[in-house]
Amino acid sequence: MKITKVETFVLSNQLKETFYFSQWSYSERRICIVKITTDTGLIGWGEGYGPADIIKEGVNLIRPLLIDQNPLENETLWYNMYRKTLDFARRGVLAASISAVDVALWDLKGKILNLPISILMGGQHRKKVVPYATGLYFSESENLAEKLVEEAKLYVRQGFKAIKMKVGLSISQDIALVKAIRQAIGTDIKLMIDSNHAYSLREATELSRAVEHFDIGWFEEPVSPEYYHHYKELRTKTTIPIAGGECEYLRYGFQTLLENDCVDILQVDICGAGGLSEAKRIATLANTKGVEIIPHVWGTGIAFHAALHFISNLEPLPGRMTPPNMYIEFDRTENQIRESLTNPSIEMIDGFINIPQKPGLGIEVDEDVIRKFSSQILT
Ligand code: CA
Repeated sequence: MKITKVETFVLSNQLKETFYFSQWSYSERRICIVKITTDTGLIGWGEGYGPADIIKEGVNLIRPLLIDQNPLENETLWYNMYRKTLDFARRGVLAASISAVDVALWDLKGKILNLPISILMGGQHRKKVVPYATGLYFSESENLAEKLVEEAKLYVRQGFKAIKMKVGLSISQDIALVKAIRQAIGTDIKLMIDSNHAYSLREATELSRAVEHFDIGWFEEPVSPEYYHHYKELRTKTTIPIAGGECEYLRYGFQTLLENDCVDILQVDICGAGGLSEAKRIATLANTKGVEIIPHVWGTGIAFHAALHFISNLEPLPGRMTPPNMYIEFDRTENQIRESLTNPSIEMIDGFINIPQKPGLGIEVDEDVIRKFSSQILT
């Protein structure tokens, strides 16, 4: 069997309402999807996390390494792609191009061998995971607190057991918003905060101490990803678990984060950090340090299903008769591409999402939806 085609599609969805976090605003969701076809007609789908148009160009760069190759040799193909990009992008967006191809190769491998990816990765340590709602972004709303409280209550009504909110506006505003959300959702729902590296060590320490008594599940990206020593020091100053890693790439980047004892929870993005192949290696590294992994997930059902299989395959840490539930990030912001691209749609049952048992990623991609959102690109 040989790879005959590697196609890329940039999909765009203009949002009805612009939303923002501590760094930037979003008025569009723009995503690069990869489709790999073989001479037998089987197809694999992948997705890259990051600037879609650049990821597409990255795939153009590595395409010659894939054509006419055996898709089952995904690790050797991964290595060739890595070597092709190493001199120019040891970290960053070309790793997302590799990730998109790698996920598509795993999907394809599953379809060729008629097995779900999590089984191919070595087995399913769990059959279901707990989604947490990622939302509660900022907006230009006149009464932001009221709007966020309503949104948080909606997630509780929908059955979410855990919710992540944005912080990073200012310490005083953050404290007021965290207080309002915690009061609205009660004490039984897990609540996490994410500043998208808005703060200095001093500010992050101040905010952590001010919100500790609101029972915060974790503080995500409190400080700049460049300041490993600040991550490490912050962990000694607060009882809130510290999370990060969505800006790291490949095993080498994660090794720095792990060796410096930066985080309690490692948030590898499968579609950015090197694909499922590299995420599995990063999981092994994290395991040697006893660090928990809850992947960063942002994008369509392709990225979400890749994460479901990866989490299913993660070794329990620590092992015991009654292992804790594992979490998966479930973005709830407006995104028509995510809602319509893949089938079946993602379903939460009693607060859990089941690990797909169909071959590959376990989803169908609707090519009419690809055409629809590709055609919305004006440039
Ligand atoms: Ca984040």
